Amino acid sequence: MDKILISACLIGLRTRYDGKIINKLCTDNFQKRCLIPVCPEQLGGLSTPREPADILFLDGSKRAVSRNSKIDLTENFLKGARETLKICKKLNINKAILKSKSPSCGEEGFTFDLLKKNNIRCIIKS
Ligand code: SF4
Repeated sequence: MDKILISACLIGLRTRYDGKIINKLCTDNFQKRCLIPVCPEQLGGLSTPREPADILFLDGSKRAVSRNSKIDLTENFLKGARETLKICKKLNINKAILKSKSPSCGEEGFTFDLLKKNNIRCIIKS
């Protein structure tokens, strides 16, 4: 059976920064696929709920910074991306469905970047 990595929040798991549950994706279309839910920010050691973070470009390098307290969380985001990639490699996954507008999973996110660099096909869902 095909395995697809998926942002955990997209299928209704409580992983979002604000602790809210969203259920964006109808999983009926994936009955013959094995969805592997992952939250890179939790894998990077961040709690739920947590302060939202933004991507900033500082001195030419991409950083993840908490929105209000301005704490640099880049190491957490990088760790989450690496752990997510590790799961893909261990389970031989080459496709991912990722949540848009997230500093991890979204189009500019750390996990999206790393998966793309490792030839994992990433589809962004809003
Ligand atoms: Fe976790 Fe990604 Fe969903 Fe954010 S978008 S809650 S990092 S799975």
